[in-house]
Amino acid sequence: MLDVLIVGGGPAGSSLAWALRDSGLKIAIMDKAEFPRQKVCAGWVTPAVMQELDVDLDDYARGRVLQPITGFRIGQLGRKLVKSDYAGDVVSYGIRRIEFDDYLLQRSQARLITSEPFRQMQRTDSGWRVNDDIEARVVVGAGGHFCPVARAIGSKVVSEVAVAAQEIEFEMTPEQEAECTIDAEIPELFFMPDLKGYGWVFRKGSFLNIGLGREDKHRLSAHVQDFVDYLKQQNRIPEDIPQKLAGHAYLLYPHAVRKIVGDQVLLIGDAAGLAYAQSGEGIRPAVESALIAARVIRDCGGDYSAARLQAYAGLIEQRFGERQPDPDFMERLPFAVRQLFASGLMRTKWFTKNVVADRWFLHAHEEPLDTAAQ
Ligand SMILES: Cc1cc2nc3c(=O)[nH]c(=O)nc-3n(C[C@H](O)[C@H](O)[C@H](O)COP(=O)(O)OP(=O)(O)OC[C@H]3O[C@@H](n4cnc5c(N)ncnc54)[C@H](O)[C@@H]3O)c2cc1C
Repeated sequence: MLDVLIVGGGPAGSSLAWALRDSGLKIAIMDKAEFPRQKVCAGWVTPAVMQELDVDLDDYARGRVLQPITGFRIGQLGRKLVKSDYAGDVVSYGIRRIEFDDYLLQRSQARLITSEPFRQMQRTDSGWRVNDDIEARVVVGAGGHFCPVARAIGSKVVSEVAVAAQEIEFEMTPEQEAECTIDAEIPELFFMPDLKGYGWVFRKGSFLNIGLGREDKHRLSAHVQDFVDYLKQQNRIPEDIPQKLAGHAYLLYPHAVRKIVGDQVLLIGDAAGLAYAQSGEGIRPAVESALIAARVIRDCGGDYSAARLQAYAGLIEQRFGERQPDPDFMERLPFAVRQLFASGLMRTKWFTKNVVADRWFLHAHEEPLDTAAQ
């Protein structure tokens, strides 16, 4: 019998197992995929993530892409971008999820049950029986946005308002590299005029990642195509990029209404709907939720009743704030007023650096979690 079965081996699941590695608990991670596996993601991580997970950057960079980021170019789609500069300081990293997730999973020290999709779970006297033969005292749903454990405890995954995003990541040929005018250290962010999402171009070594996400999936493919065409017209990206884009979804923290704790079960990462509202950054909240969950699981002393696990929901709210499912002040403003606000502000150096880059994207106002206290 396992103590903890984690369903999903992404950053949330592997971070939880890693944080519990010396707890004496029997832990397994189940994933439907075989690793290394692809994951639709721009692959931008803040230094807080590396610090919280105690990642040795030199070790990581050996044979893997670790692209330092020292600035951003930000603006409204169709207008001139404004550069935010950090005088050579590394404020973020570009990674490839196929490498990053595998690295975290392999060092987690958990038993790995891969190529095994979660099918169902049933109650037993001591916890849960998953897929008819794996017994665990507590099941943690870390299966991303469409997490089957979230569904099993009642989330209506399909009817939620989520960000829908599409992207492509590919290795450029030497000719394509010569044609691409994006600086590797300076990703570019293009906000949509209605502020419902943004597009990005991100060069990581010889890899190029182009994508766009919106909290309104209506005409998403058309928005993405317009964006790609615009980048080509501006001579920012090669003409002959591969055609096929991949899509995925995630919930923004304020608008997510999932129940994240049940009897002998809890949800972490995207399964719990934690991505930051303005940037859509989901890796840091996924990792932080895992570290918080590890602390609660340790404190439970083997009693994983809903009453004991409820502390997790409280700590998540303490860390990420109260959820606000209703539209905020900006969202209630008429479209024309919002557009006016956005286009004016996005042209200023002050707003793009201090608000968009520092607050929205880097969360510079928020210290990394104190892992010693977790
Ligand atoms: C286009 C796009 C770009 C993004 N870019 C960024 C970015 O640059 N930076 C950032 O911080 N965030 C980004 N995000 C968000 C980020 O990808 C997620 O927040 C993050 O991956 C969440 O991690 P997780 O571990 O919770 O879930 P995931 O990474 O989704 O991992 C879930 C795991 O569960 C497994 N699984 C799913 N279903 C089952 C099942 N039925 N049975 C067994 N296993 C299952 C999957 O195989 C997967 O390995 C982006 C998202 C999208 C869609």
